[in-house]
Amino acid sequence: MAYQHGSGRGGNSRGTRGGQGGQRSNQTNRPFHKRRPSNGGGSRRGKSNHRGAYIHPSKFVNKATISGEETPYEPKHTFADFPFHPALHKNIAHKKYTTPSAIQDQSIPFTLEGRDVLGLANTGTGKTAAFLLPILNNLYSNPVPTSVLILAPTRELAQQIDEQFRDFSYGMKLFSTLLVGGANIDRQMKQLVRRPHVVIGTPGRVMDLIKRKKLNLGQINTVVLDEADRMLDMGFVNDIREIIGLTPNERQTLFFSATITPQIQKLMDEFLNNPEVISVRTADTSERVDQDIVIAATKEEKLEKLQDMLGKDEFEKVLLFGETKFGVQRLSDHLDNSGIPSAAIHGNKSQSQRQRALRAFKNDHVKVLVATDVAARGLDIPNVSHVINFDQPATYEDYVHRIGRTGRGTATGKALTFVPPHK
Ligand code: AMP
Repeated sequence: MAYQHGSGRGGNSRGTRGGQGGQRSNQTNRPFHKRRPSNGGGSRRGKSNHRGAYIHPSKFVNKATISGEETPYEPKHTFADFPFHPALHKNIAHKKYTTPSAIQDQSIPFTLEGRDVLGLANTGTGKTAAFLLPILNNLYSNPVPTSVLILAPTRELAQQIDEQFRDFSYGMKLFSTLLVGGANIDRQMKQLVRRPHVVIGTPGRVMDLIKRKKLNLGQINTVVLDEADRMLDMGFVNDIREIIGLTPNERQTLFFSATITPQIQKLMDEFLNNPEVISVRTADTSERVDQDIVIAATKEEKLEKLQDMLGKDEFEKVLLFGETKFGVQRLSDHLDNSGIPSAAIHGNKSQSQRQRALRAFKNDHVKVLVATDVAARGLDIPNVSHVINFDQPATYEDYVHRIGRTGRGTATGKALTFVPPHK
């Protein structure tokens, strides 16, 4: 099949920022009016503090309406159709990617053209390669130092992007630097002196390095905002505005987000120029996850029921959520002492401890990962069989993020939430 993007739409003119651009298909509009229900627990946005808001238990119960047997996406392109440099094709083949995922299939042609893109995609749909491959291809022809900036909401997600960058850039003499909190800033400053082509980071640390005059964004020609909705949820909006505002106007901007909230729309209007909007959102996560409650009156009863469940074979790979850093650590210690090996990630752990915990879980060395909400955001962990909410989430939105860690790709997942008995 010849390489084609099959559209005469949009053009490549760079008018004033803020155009709506050519939106693709009816689906594209879907998130504007069909948004997740966010009632029940209130939303974090707008009102300041909803910790402990009551969520009716019925909201934790749902039979998955979409089975794991969704029809597979039929891509219009093969990777061979994309006019990448042979070195990049070789690395794609080495990663054993044979067919482009939906977001890759639909966005790569536009990104290669230099268009701004808003990709509406659930996590785990191959977004990372969707932006990295065209970026690497451009860089190979035009390896300008510090010309690509990739922002991600969490350290873990930034690290995962960096790992994929390394795989895909093998032998291409293109280099990246990871700028995240919790890691040694002196080392990051030294790495910046070597003028890497790509900087990948979380907004807080990136801002810090800019303020210390160690990172200059004057050469940036490509900006990626990954999981934009989560970044805003985490309160990074001012940093993001400031950071993108420091990059040259003549640039390509790529936003990825699971939803379009009014805040995302606003950022889009400010920073995207005539974007191609591509929506590959499938069913809402909550439709793909079997959800139920577990009733327990006391903490002891919760622990007992939890241990019973974790002893069963079907609980193969379990992400267990607790509310506080201390609670999560205690829960993990308790499970270890009860003969159920677990790992924990929360804000009191160093970056290397978090990485170690994540690796142990990913590689099936432990079957339980205990986490706080913030630590778990943006994680790409395949095959999580169950999400268990030992402590209830503070908001319904947190709940949806939590359960979105299972039922990924085309799998059906299970989510269980502990609730007290009805009085
Ligand atoms: P992401 O959404 O970018 O985090 O990707 C989710 C997972 O899918 C990662 O483990 C990727 O390595 C993998 N992946 C992404 N694209 C493809 C593809 N075209 N073929 C096979 N695996 C892929």
